[in-house]
Amino acid sequence: MAGDIILRVEDLEKRFGGIVALDKVNLEIERGKVTLLIGPNGSGKTTLVNVISGFYKPDGGRVLFKGRDITGMSPHEISKLGLVRTFQIPKPFTNLTVLENVLTAADSPGENVYLAGLARRLWLGFEKRAAARAFEILGWVGLDHMWDRRSGELSGGQMKLLEIARAIMKGAEMIIMDEPAAGVNPRLAGSIMERIKYLAREKGITFLIIEHRIGLVKEYVDRVYAMSMGKVIASGKPDEVLNNPVVLESYLGG
Ligand code: ADP
Repeated sequence: MAGDIILRVEDLEKRFGGIVALDKVNLEIERGKVTLLIGPNGSGKTTLVNVISGFYKPDGGRVLFKGRDITGMSPHEISKLGLVRTFQIPKPFTNLTVLENVLTAADSPGENVYLAGLARRLWLGFEKRAAARAFEILGWVGLDHMWDRRSGELSGGQMKLLEIARAIMKGAEMIIMDEPAAGVNPRLAGSIMERIKYLAREKGITFLIIEHRIGLVKEYVDRVYAMSMGKVIASGKPDEVLNNPVVLESYLGG
Protein backbone atom coordinates (compact mmCIF):
# COMPACT_ATOMS: atom_id res chain seq x y z
CA MET A 1 0.00 0.00 0.00
CA ALA A 2 1.54 3.29 -1.09
CA GLY A 3 1.68 6.05 1.51
CA ASP A 4 1.09 9.74 0.94
CA ILE A 5 3.54 10.81 -1.77
CA ILE A 6 4.74 14.36 -1.07
CA LEU A 7 7.25 14.62 -3.93
CA ARG A 8 7.13 12.95 -7.29
CA VAL A 9 9.79 13.25 -9.98
CA GLU A 10 8.84 12.12 -13.47
CA ASP A 11 11.31 11.41 -16.28
CA LEU A 12 13.56 14.26 -15.24
CA GLU A 13 16.29 15.16 -17.71
CA LYS A 14 19.17 17.59 -17.42
CA ARG A 15 22.11 18.06 -19.78
CA PHE A 16 25.20 20.22 -19.49
CA GLY A 17 26.52 20.52 -23.04
CA GLY A 18 27.20 16.93 -24.03
CA ILE A 19 26.94 15.56 -20.48
CA VAL A 20 23.70 13.85 -19.54
CA ALA A 21 23.56 14.61 -15.81
CA LEU A 22 19.98 13.33 -15.37
CA ASP A 23 18.69 10.65 -17.69
CA LYS A 24 14.94 10.23 -17.17
CA VAL A 25 15.01 10.09 -13.38
CA ASN A 26 11.87 8.96 -11.54
CA LEU A 27 11.32 8.97 -7.83
CA GLU A 28 8.62 9.07 -5.21
CA ILE A 29 9.17 10.42 -1.73
CA GLU A 30 6.70 9.47 0.98
CA ARG A 31 5.57 12.07 3.50
CA GLY A 32 7.04 11.71 6.98
CA LYS A 33 9.89 9.44 5.83
CA VAL A 34 13.64 9.86 5.65
CA THR A 35 15.01 9.13 2.18
CA LEU A 36 18.73 8.83 1.46
CA LEU A 37 20.15 9.57 -1.98
CA ILE A 38 23.44 7.84 -2.75
CA GLY A 39 25.76 7.29 -5.70
CA PRO A 40 29.38 7.73 -6.68
CA ASN A 41 30.78 11.17 -7.47
CA GLY A 42 29.35 12.57 -10.67
CA SER A 43 26.29 10.31 -10.64
CA GLY A 44 23.86 13.25 -10.64
CA LYS A 45 22.75 13.59 -7.00
CA THR A 46 23.50 17.32 -6.70
CA THR A 47 21.99 18.04 -10.10
CA LEU A 48 18.83 16.19 -9.09
CA VAL A 49 18.33 18.19 -5.89
CA ASN A 50 19.22 21.39 -7.75
CA VAL A 51 16.46 20.72 -10.28
CA ILE A 52 13.95 19.65 -7.60
CA SER A 53 14.56 22.83 -5.59
CA GLY A 54 14.47 25.14 -8.60
CA PHE A 55 18.14 26.08 -8.90
CA TYR A 56 18.39 24.44 -12.34
CA LYS A 57 15.72 24.20 -14.99
CA PRO A 58 15.28 20.68 -16.36
CA ASP A 59 15.46 19.83 -20.08
CA GLY A 60 12.57 17.40 -19.69
CA GLY A 61 10.25 15.83 -17.17
CA ARG A 62 8.30 17.16 -14.21
CA VAL A 63 8.57 17.72 -10.47
CA LEU A 64 5.35 17.51 -8.45
CA PHE A 65 5.24 18.68 -4.83
CA LYS A 66 2.04 17.97 -2.90
CA GLY A 67 0.47 17.17 -6.24
CA ARG A 68 1.34 20.55 -7.72
CA ASP A 69 3.61 20.94 -10.73
CA ILE A 70 6.59 23.00 -9.50
CA THR A 71 8.81 22.40 -12.53
CA GLY A 72 10.66 25.58 -13.44
CA MET A 73 9.53 27.58 -10.39
CA SER A 74 12.17 29.66 -8.59
CA PRO A 75 13.84 28.33 -5.42
CA HIS A 76 12.06 31.07 -3.46
CA GLU A 77 8.61 30.12 -4.76
CA ILE A 78 9.31 26.45 -4.08
CA SER A 79 10.50 27.09 -0.53
CA LYS A 80 7.33 29.11 0.13
CA LEU A 81 5.32 26.03 -0.79
CA GLY A 82 7.13 24.11 1.97
CA LEU A 83 10.06 22.43 0.18
CA VAL A 84 13.21 23.89 1.70
CA ARG A 85 16.89 23.20 1.23
CA THR A 86 18.73 24.03 4.42
CA PHE A 87 21.37 26.08 2.67
CA GLN A 88 18.68 28.39 1.24
CA ILE A 89 18.33 29.95 4.66
CA PRO A 90 21.18 32.36 5.38
CA LYS A 91 23.75 30.97 7.81
CA PRO A 92 22.89 31.61 11.47
CA PHE A 93 24.17 34.93 12.81
CA THR A 94 26.74 33.82 15.37
CA ASN A 95 26.20 36.88 17.59
CA LEU A 96 22.42 36.35 17.83
CA THR A 97 20.93 33.88 20.29
CA VAL A 98 19.59 30.50 19.23
CA LEU A 99 16.00 31.73 19.67
CA GLU A 100 16.63 34.92 17.69
CA ASN A 101 18.11 32.88 14.88
CA VAL A 102 15.00 30.71 14.66
CA LEU A 103 12.84 33.86 14.67
CA THR A 104 14.78 35.45 11.80
CA ALA A 105 13.92 32.44 9.62
CA ALA A 106 10.18 33.20 9.80
CA ASP A 107 8.63 35.25 7.01
CA SER A 108 7.68 38.21 9.15
CA PRO A 109 4.72 40.40 8.14
CA GLY A 110 6.58 43.12 10.05
CA GLU A 111 8.76 43.65 7.01
CA ASN A 112 6.00 45.35 5.06
CA VAL A 113 3.72 46.98 7.59
CA TYR A 114 3.84 50.52 8.83
CA LEU A 115 4.31 50.01 12.55
CA ALA A 116 1.61 52.24 13.97
CA GLY A 117 -1.76 51.75 15.59
CA LEU A 118 -3.54 48.57 14.57
CA ALA A 119 -0.68 47.38 12.42
CA ARG A 120 1.67 47.63 15.34
CA ARG A 121 -0.67 45.68 17.62
CA LEU A 122 -1.06 43.01 14.95
CA TRP A 123 2.68 42.86 14.57
CA LEU A 124 3.19 42.41 18.30
CA GLY A 125 0.66 39.58 18.24
CA PHE A 126 2.60 37.99 15.42
CA GLU A 127 5.85 38.33 17.39
CA LYS A 128 4.30 36.60 20.39
CA ARG A 129 3.00 33.71 18.33
CA ALA A 130 6.29 33.45 16.47
CA ALA A 131 8.27 33.27 19.71
CA ALA A 132 5.99 30.53 21.05
CA ARG A 133 6.33 28.61 17.79
CA ALA A 134 10.13 29.05 17.79
CA PHE A 135 10.32 27.65 21.33
CA GLU A 136 8.19 24.69 20.34
CA ILE A 137 10.43 23.91 17.35
CA LEU A 138 13.58 24.27 19.46
CA GLY A 139 12.08 21.61 21.72
CA TRP A 140 11.55 19.34 18.71
CA VAL A 141 15.25 19.52 17.79
CA GLY A 142 16.39 19.34 21.42
CA LEU A 143 17.87 22.84 21.61
CA ASP A 144 15.27 24.53 23.83
CA HIS A 145 17.64 24.53 26.82
CA MET A 146 20.11 26.54 24.70
CA TRP A 147 17.60 29.20 23.60
CA ASP A 148 19.46 32.19 25.06
CA ARG A 149 22.98 31.12 24.09
CA ARG A 150 24.81 32.90 21.30
CA SER A 151 24.70 30.68 18.23
CA GLY A 152 28.46 31.01 17.94
CA GLU A 153 28.76 28.85 21.06
CA LEU A 154 27.00 25.87 19.47
CA SER A 155 28.89 22.74 18.43
CA GLY A 156 28.92 21.65 14.78
CA GLY A 157 26.18 19.12 15.47
CA GLN A 158 23.98 21.62 17.30
CA MET A 159 24.45 24.04 14.40
CA LYS A 160 22.97 21.42 12.03
CA LEU A 161 19.99 21.02 14.36
CA LEU A 162 19.58 24.81 14.39
CA GLU A 163 19.54 24.77 10.57
CA ILE A 164 16.73 22.21 10.68
CA ALA A 165 14.81 24.27 13.28
CA ARG A 166 15.09 27.34 11.05
CA ALA A 167 13.85 25.44 8.01
CA ILE A 168 10.79 24.26 9.98
CA MET A 169 10.19 27.81 11.25
CA LYS A 170 10.24 28.93 7.63
CA GLY A 171 7.39 26.51 6.99
CA ALA A 172 9.24 23.47 5.64
CA GLU A 173 7.16 20.32 5.24
CA MET A 174 10.01 18.69 3.35
CA ILE A 175 13.70 19.41 3.96
CA ILE A 176 16.54 18.60 1.58
CA MET A 177 19.89 18.39 3.36
CA ASP A 178 23.34 17.96 1.94
CA GLU A 179 25.51 15.87 4.21
CA PRO A 180 23.92 16.23 7.66
CA ALA A 181 26.68 14.00 9.10
CA ALA A 182 29.66 15.73 7.47
CA GLY A 183 32.28 17.17 9.78
CA VAL A 184 30.88 15.73 13.01
CA ASN A 185 32.10 12.68 14.92
CA PRO A 186 30.25 9.37 14.45
CA ARG A 187 28.43 9.51 17.80
CA LEU A 188 27.18 13.02 17.13
CA ALA A 189 26.24 12.06 13.57
CA GLY A 190 24.08 9.32 15.11
CA SER A 191 22.32 11.76 17.40
CA ILE A 192 21.61 14.17 14.52
CA MET A 193 20.16 11.31 12.50
CA GLU A 194 18.14 10.17 15.53
CA ARG A 195 16.58 13.66 15.66
CA ILE A 196 15.85 13.62 11.95
CA LYS A 197 14.12 10.27 12.34
CA TYR A 198 12.10 11.63 15.28
CA LEU A 199 11.04 14.72 13.31
CA ALA A 200 9.89 12.47 10.48
CA ARG A 201 8.04 9.94 12.68
CA GLU A 202 6.50 12.27 15.22
CA LYS A 203 6.14 15.59 13.41
CA GLY A 204 5.58 14.38 9.86
CA ILE A 205 8.51 16.31 8.39
CA THR A 206 9.87 14.67 5.23
CA PHE A 207 13.63 14.49 4.67
CA LEU A 208 15.69 13.89 1.56
CA ILE A 209 19.38 13.68 2.41
CA ILE A 210 22.54 13.25 0.41
CA GLU A 211 25.24 11.68 2.53
CA HIS A 212 28.53 10.01 1.69
CA ARG A 213 29.01 8.45 5.12
CA ILE A 214 26.42 5.80 4.34
CA GLY A 215 27.45 3.45 7.16
CA LEU A 216 26.73 6.16 9.72
CA VAL A 217 23.26 7.03 8.49
CA LYS A 218 21.73 3.89 6.96
CA GLU A 219 20.09 2.63 10.16
CA TYR A 220 18.08 5.86 10.47
CA VAL A 221 16.66 6.05 6.96
CA ASP A 222 13.47 4.50 5.59
CA ARG A 223 14.32 4.35 1.94
CA VAL A 224 17.36 4.64 -0.30
CA TYR A 225 17.64 5.77 -3.92
CA ALA A 226 20.90 4.88 -5.64
CA MET A 227 22.08 6.76 -8.73
CA SER A 228 24.78 6.06 -11.25
CA MET A 229 25.59 7.96 -14.44
CA GLY A 230 22.46 10.09 -14.25
CA LYS A 231 20.05 7.22 -13.68
CA VAL A 232 18.30 5.70 -10.68
CA ILE A 233 19.75 2.18 -10.56
CA ALA A 234 18.04 0.90 -7.41
CA SER A 235 15.56 1.95 -4.74
CA GLY A 236 14.01 0.37 -1.69
CA LYS A 237 14.83 -0.52 1.89
CA PRO A 238 18.39 0.42 2.95
CA ASP A 239 19.75 -3.13 3.26
CA GLU A 240 18.29 -4.22 -0.06
CA VAL A 241 19.76 -1.28 -1.94
CA LEU A 242 23.13 -1.23 -0.18
CA ASN A 243 23.67 -4.95 -0.82
CA ASN A 244 22.46 -4.79 -4.40
CA PRO A 245 25.33 -5.99 -6.64
CA VAL A 246 24.52 -3.34 -9.25
CA VAL A 247 24.90 -0.61 -6.61
CA LEU A 248 28.16 -2.08 -5.25
CA GLU A 249 29.47 -2.33 -8.78
CA SER A 250 28.65 1.33 -9.52
CA TYR A 251 30.93 2.40 -6.65
CA LEU A 252 33.78 0.17 -7.85
CA GLY A 253 33.42 1.48 -11.39
CA GLY A 254 33.33 5.11 -10.18
P1 ADP B 1 27.06 14.14 -7.78
O1 ADP B 1 26.37 15.16 -6.96
O2 ADP B 1 26.42 12.80 -7.74
O3 ADP B 1 28.54 14.06 -7.50
P2 ADP B 1 26.60 15.99 -9.97
O4 ADP B 1 25.13 16.17 -10.06
O5 ADP B 1 27.39 17.04 -9.30
O6 ADP B 1 26.94 14.57 -9.32
O7 ADP B 1 27.19 15.83 -11.42
C1 ADP B 1 26.59 15.02 -12.44
C2 ADP B 1 27.28 15.29 -13.76
O8 ADP B 1 26.92 16.59 -14.22
C3 ADP B 1 28.80 15.29 -13.67
O9 ADP B 1 29.31 14.75 -14.88
C4 ADP B 1 29.14 16.75 -13.55
O10 ADP B 1 30.43 17.01 -14.05
C5 ADP B 1 28.06 17.41 -14.39
N1 ADP B 1 27.71 18.77 -13.88
C6 ADP B 1 27.09 19.05 -12.72
N2 ADP B 1 26.87 20.37 -12.61
C7 ADP B 1 27.38 20.94 -13.73
C8 ADP B 1 27.46 22.29 -14.22
N3 ADP B 1 26.97 23.32 -13.53
N4 ADP B 1 28.05 22.48 -15.42
C9 ADP B 1 28.53 21.44 -16.15
N5 ADP B 1 28.48 20.17 -15.75
C10 ADP B 1 27.92 19.90 -14.56
